[in-house]
Amino acid sequence: MKITAIELYHVSVPLKEIFWPTWIPGYPQTHNRFTLIKICTDEGIEGYSAGSAMGTERQGLGDLLGGYLIGSDPTDIDRIQNLLKQAGFLGWRNFWIEPACWDIIGKKENKPVYELLGGKARPVPVYLSTGEMHDPVKRIDELLAMKEKGYKTAKLRVKNPTLEEDIRHIEVISKAVGDQMVLGVDANQGWLVSIVDRIPAWDLERAKEFATACHHNNIEWIEEPLDSRDYDGNAALKKFSKVKISGAELNYGWDEIKIMFEKDCFDVYQPDAMFAGGIAQVMKVIETCKEKKRLYSPHTWTNGIGFYVNWNLVLADTTNKKPLEFPLEEPSWIPEQREGIIDPVLPDSDGMLQPFKRPGLGFEIDKRLLKKYGKRFFKITETGLKLKVIREKGIKEALKLKARKEGN
Ligand SMILES: [Mg+2]
Repeated sequence: MKITAIELYHVSVPLKEIFWPTWIPGYPQTHNRFTLIKICTDEGIEGYSAGSAMGTERQGLGDLLGGYLIGSDPTDIDRIQNLLKQAGFLGWRNFWIEPACWDIIGKKENKPVYELLGGKARPVPVYLSTGEMHDPVKRIDELLAMKEKGYKTAKLRVKNPTLEEDIRHIEVISKAVGDQMVLGVDANQGWLVSIVDRIPAWDLERAKEFATACHHNNIEWIEEPLDSRDYDGNAALKKFSKVKISGAELNYGWDEIKIMFEKDCFDVYQPDAMFAGGIAQVMKVIETCKEKKRLYSPHTWTNGIGFYVNWNLVLADTTNKKPLEFPLEEPSWIPEQREGIIDPVLPDSDGMLQPFKRPGLGFEIDKRLLKKYGKRFFKITETGLKLKVIREKGIKEALKLKARKEGN
């Protein structure tokens, strides 16, 4: 099979209310934005994936991708992984594109991707992943209401200027809710964004004191308490902490995560396939977690398509018992806007996600919604690429280039 056309879309789904992500302190998020890629093949199969975006920053990506991907075999994942890495040398990280090839393979084999990866259909428990830091008293009421809807585990966020305020936040909530729900907390220190508020970064001392407070407050896990490339700091903290430490959500795939295993940085590895190397590299992380007796629980906070990709990986990990991150912050970050151009995903009243059976990654693009929220900004076909090369290099060089590529 070969890739014959690529289309790229800017998708921008307006939120009903302003969302205040803890990971960009002070930033009012008004849209769920991502770049959608559609990869077409000579067998008429289409694969999709989506990369989170701030705006239209990938406007020029198509020019780069055409030369790398047109004519390649989408079922040869090793080769695709390699090409996407190469296409990233100039700047962009492109691993979010790789799942589109898995979507194609699944559709060709008429199987969900998790089955191709050795998994089978099963219900998966989810945890409520909050995105904002609310006043702790308000958050207590919200959590208790969510508990009534079936959520048994929840993740809080802390992003206060002082350690004391962060500790108070978890103390107040844990006291009121801790015996009714399992609680985790995300410090979002792994990849700091300070374009609005400049909240000071944690150092190892602060992280240790916070970990001790979490232990006293029965917190199950602490996420990203230090910079995601501070391998030694994370390893020292893991050694010290009585509470599980997790991280690696946005790291640069296996190249970085293998160092984390060597240094023993985390109890829980949470690579998001959309950032951390695509499906193939995350499978490597899952296998290594099994080998080294560590836990795997992916980050999923991107968009509905990203959620499906990581859900496939959890289904592939048949012995995984960890609840899956379910990003939800009412009334702004809710399934309809989070998914945007695919059907909203919702757990049942017992906090379980029933498996999907559709071939491929499992979602279906709603063409009407894509038309409403998306704008195609790039399309290239095999013929289009040929004409472009002839225009730029002349027919003689173009023919030589073709012969050379085909000869390899
Ligand atoms: Mg996180």
